[in-house]
Amino acid sequence: MGAFTYHKPATVGEAADLAAELHGARFVAGGTDVVVLLKQRKIDPANLISLRNVAELTYIDSADGLSLGSGVTHTRIANHDYIRARYSALADGARVVGSKQIRNVATLGGNICNAAPSADTACPLLALDAAVRILGREGEREVPIDDFFLGPNKVALADGELVLGIKLPATSEKSGSAYIKHSRRQAMELPMVGVAAWVSVSIGGSEERCRGALECEHTPDVIQLLQNEEVVLEDVRIAMGVVAPRPIRAREAEAKLKGQVVSGALFESMGDVAVSECQARDSFRCDAGYRLEMVRVLTKRAILKAIDRIMRPGREADIDLLW
Ligand SMILES: Cc1cc2nc3c(=O)[nH]c(=O)nc-3n(C[C@H](O)[C@H](O)[C@H](O)COP(=O)(O)OP(=O)(O)OC[C@H]3O[C@@H](n4cnc5c(N)ncnc54)[C@H](O)[C@@H]3O)c2cc1C
Repeated sequence: MGAFTYHKPATVGEAADLAAELHGARFVAGGTDVVVLLKQRKIDPANLISLRNVAELTYIDSADGLSLGSGVTHTRIANHDYIRARYSALADGARVVGSKQIRNVATLGGNICNAAPSADTACPLLALDAAVRILGREGEREVPIDDFFLGPNKVALADGELVLGIKLPATSEKSGSAYIKHSRRQAMELPMVGVAAWVSVSIGGSEERCRGALECEHTPDVIQLLQNEEVVLEDVRIAMGVVAPRPIRAREAEAKLKGQVVSGALFESMGDVAVSECQARDSFRCDAGYRLEMVRVLTKRAILKAIDRIMRPGREADIDLLW
């Protein structure tokens, strides 16, 4: 690790002034990515600007949709009742980052700025249609999260720009979301594939019978019973991680589903389309073919899990295992 000067601003204003003054300085929040990069000598900044003392970046505000400061830790997100209930996919993602120790210090801002294709909050934020609040020399601007991720470890930030936080649109009781991380281990493991889905539904038949359908353990039965009750996917957003150089929306698969009654045939054809939107590669974690097969499985599962959250709010059984 090379020598650097460590700056400890207490406010956003001080942090922004330092970043404007010290060209090439690096922000550090929880440090769980930065310190690894420093130790591996992949970065060698002369100045580190710590955001740890900037309390202004740690807000969670649910007055209008959801606004989160970049300095909010994964632990706070994972344990936040309102986020778990209304922005479940984000809580799912935060809950599976690294380990308890990592989640206690690592931040949402750090996760998206590091921009790994495997970042566990990236797909949830894409599916939940987040916007990123950025502060630079010219003032504040907002960028849709889909335009923020440019490639592996590349984001739409100019030198010295600071991520203030993210904003998520309001959700209704007829919408739900889920993120599923597919990895070999339950902790300290990056995903082989990650899929998040957000759906809003209308139900032609009986809600009670839908709840009964979701008790079934056999996926085709669940889908058939939901089809019988005319569960319509009024709107859908799907995001996929580790299947392209950056986390991506499956926009064609979304279009296939929108306005349609849930059915086995619909999920089948949606899976084909989602796979066609990927640019998966082999890696030491698994090969591309396996990733694509899992995209088929996980897109369907994430949608069913999101529907389950609409129909049976507050219930958190381990339905990943069933579907
Ligand atoms: C053992 C281990 C396990 C891990 N497991 C996972 C995992 O399962 N899933 C996963 O997604 N990640 C994992 N990670 C990666 C890491 O923990 C996360 O990406 C984490 O969210 C990074 O947050 P941080 O606050 O520590 O970021 P930092 O390391 O402080 O910063 C990361 C990057 O973001 C920049 N940055 C931070 N905040 C801002 C800001 N406000 N504005 C502009 N730039 C900013 C920094 O300059 C740096 O480039 C793991 C890391 C370790 C060490």
